Amino acid sequence: MKTIGMLGGMSWESTSSYYRFVNEGIKQRLGGLHSARICLYSVDFDEIEQLQHAGNWAATADILSRAGKRVQAGGADFLMICTNTMHKVAPEVEAAIDIPLLHIADATAAELSKDGITRVGLLGTRFTMEQDFYKGRVQERFGIEVVVPDSQRQQEIHRIIYEELCLGSIEQASRQYYLDTIEALASQGAEAVILGCTEIAMLIAQQDTKVPLYDTTAIHCQAAVELALNDLTTDAVT
Ligand code: GLU
Repeated sequence: MKTIGMLGGMSWESTSSYYRFVNEGIKQRLGGLHSARICLYSVDFDEIEQLQHAGNWAATADILSRAGKRVQAGGADFLMICTNTMHKVAPEVEAAIDIPLLHIADATAAELSKDGITRVGLLGTRFTMEQDFYKGRVQERFGIEVVVPDSQRQQEIHRIIYEELCLGSIEQASRQYYLDTIEALASQGAEAVILGCTEIAMLIAQQDTKVPLYDTTAIHCQAAVELALNDLTTDAVT
């Protein structure tokens, strides 16, 4: 079994899901007392969040690149960045390390492709929904069209992530807002919706809606389990 490298703490609420999901995945595959080999570096999210909102992505790239090197030095065979948003600086992190990066958008898009989805909705932080580093990759590499909520909805979806979910707060009104947004995306022709923020599955589950949901946290972890137990040749590894 390979050692899974993780850059976490963004937020720690979702990193705790990562820790649980990869361990559950290994246990399911190997049984008994088996558990995942993990090397985790968890950052102080306050610092990252301030730099994001100041638009200082170069400084975040520097922090994550240095952390990635430490994870590699700790014996990881490949690296996961445990947040969708911070894949904005995935190219810089990847350039700083010698181990492969398991890209969250590639892992997710591979699942969508497998299920024949050609037009998908995307929920995430404003950075993820607005900018091109995520949806552009899904569109260009996998030929899947990505639709996002209107800008007013993007603001509220973003606010709920930072002011509630990343602080571990689950509000019924926010759940309903997300469900209404999912319906709006479906009426724009989305065949499915990507939960493109690693905390969203704390708020909504597949049983809450008929629209198929693709939870990036679960998918990323499932891909990591496969990679830890198999070879490094998969579409999601860059
Ligand atoms: N975990 C979230 C994501 O997947 C948001 C926190 C962050 O900005 O990294 O995008």
